[in-house]
Amino acid sequence: MATAATPSERLSSYNPATHDLIGTVPIHGPAEVDAAVARARVAAERWGALSFQARSEELTAFRKALAARADEIAELLHRENGKPEIEALTEVMMALSHVQHATACAESAMAPRRVSAGILANFRATISYHPLGVVGVIGPWNYPLFTPMGSIAYALAAGNAVVWKPSELTPLIAVKIAEIAQQTFALPDLLQVVTGAGPTGAALARAAVDKIAFTGSPGTGRRVMMAAAERLTPVLLELGGKDPMIVAEDADLAKAAEACVFGALTNAGQACISVERVYVADAVHDRFVDEVVKQVRTLKVGGDDGQLGAMTSTAQVAIVKDHLEDAVAKGAKVLTGGPDAISGSYIQPTVLTNVDHRMKVMTDETFGPVIPIKRVGSLDEAVKLANDSRYGLGSSIFAGKGARAVAARLRAGMTSINAVMSFAGIPSLPFGGVGDSGFGRIHGDEGIREFTRVKSTAEQVMSLPINMMSFRQPKDAPSRLRQMIKQLYGSGVVAKASDWFRKLRS
Ligand code: NDP
Repeated sequence: MATAATPSERLSSYNPATHDLIGTVPIHGPAEVDAAVARARVAAERWGALSFQARSEELTAFRKALAARADEIAELLHRENGKPEIEALTEVMMALSHVQHATACAESAMAPRRVSAGILANFRATISYHPLGVVGVIGPWNYPLFTPMGSIAYALAAGNAVVWKPSELTPLIAVKIAEIAQQTFALPDLLQVVTGAGPTGAALARAAVDKIAFTGSPGTGRRVMMAAAERLTPVLLELGGKDPMIVAEDADLAKAAEACVFGALTNAGQACISVERVYVADAVHDRFVDEVVKQVRTLKVGGDDGQLGAMTSTAQVAIVKDHLEDAVAKGAKVLTGGPDAISGSYIQPTVLTNVDHRMKVMTDETFGPVIPIKRVGSLDEAVKLANDSRYGLGSSIFAGKGARAVAARLRAGMTSINAVMSFAGIPSLPFGGVGDSGFGRIHGDEGIREFTRVKSTAEQVMSLPINMMSFRQPKDAPSRLRQMIKQLYGSGVVAKASDWFRKLRS
């Protein structure tokens, strides 16, 4: 927790299911944020200078400390975010899988690489990766631990210090994680949390950090990018999604329906990689819809044994209601749930058919427990509609032998075949989107390198008869160069040498 100053105002965190006050946190302004970043800078210098082995030992201790307090963390996630206990525990487990993976893969992802020196054959060419310094992480409320940890763990493993601004709706979970970090890491300022609402995030985006990793809505992402532009701070943006699911004629329908219900409704649909729209082949559409509706009707909303918890944000409830009313007004058919099945923070899961791309529910991020299903005449039509979106985060295809070919045609950062959301649970797969879903990647080797600066080193290891990097050239240099151009590039000698070097390296 940042402690440099004592702000007078405090931010309250409420349980979205009961509206009870859970706790309060300080509201940090620009001065406190800058002070936290300055302390992080000192920690970063020492942390970045450690060996991978030394960092790995501390990160392992951090992971073990989090695992030891998994129950307590999950309980707070359940209370502060509204998700059922099992989903809270799953979130803790997934977050820990990333701490483990980032720790394990940092050294190999950042290992220096020798590359071909091309025509400068007398050089040794190397690419190396170095920590950036201080990374600012701004996180959302829907997965208040897992999502920011996808940046935090990789940034730390790459040798950086982190200043984390959690959502104003879920600050307590971040404060708890920072307390555990403070007790575990030798450098208490290695992972700090600054709390507050949007202005605190804006202050972090403007602060002297070396990168901002932002997860949230495209609108706020744009504001963060504009603020970061003042210092030319690079940004990684993990934004919203409108993930399509395609069900082909030869899909295993039972599996597809079960996955669809989970993918659209887990976390009450408040996931950036939720199944947000479904395109089903005409021949199996009715059977698929029947199976989805049957399964959805067995789900319980709220209570200790409910599969769907309370919506975390009341603003989001209003968006879901608006999407449902818009769809109904434009001709969608409600098979279960619907705009009238909303009570306070609880939304009954809703299945819609007769939907089309004039409706918000098919084009804008709903971020709620809604399954709009559209009948399609062919896989080509399904792919065309799936790609008809300004978003491009996740996607899924359920099909027989043609599944991989369809997957390759989907314009999205990630695709699951005969599954949903699975790419997020595989820590070695990079995670991120295209278009309004943002850019940059967390997770995997790319997620480590995202928090590094790339350095190119060209070392001259011997001299050549002609030194092209000198003004002292022989008189016949132009004619020799003319000859060389023809010999090297007219004949493909350089291409062959590069191929040879690549093969040697692989
Ligand atoms: P928001 O964009 O509202 O907020 C995200 C974070 O930015 C919060 O911490 C918020 O603080 C902060 N913030 C608000 N205003 C500013 C500002 N001007 N400058 C800097 N930071 C600011 O997103 P939500 O919290 O509503 O999260 C839901 C969104 O996140 C959805 O669109 C979802 O798809 C996306 N998401 C994307 C994921 C991905 O990996 N691609 C994963 C998870 C969610 P505060 O809350 O205090 O206002």
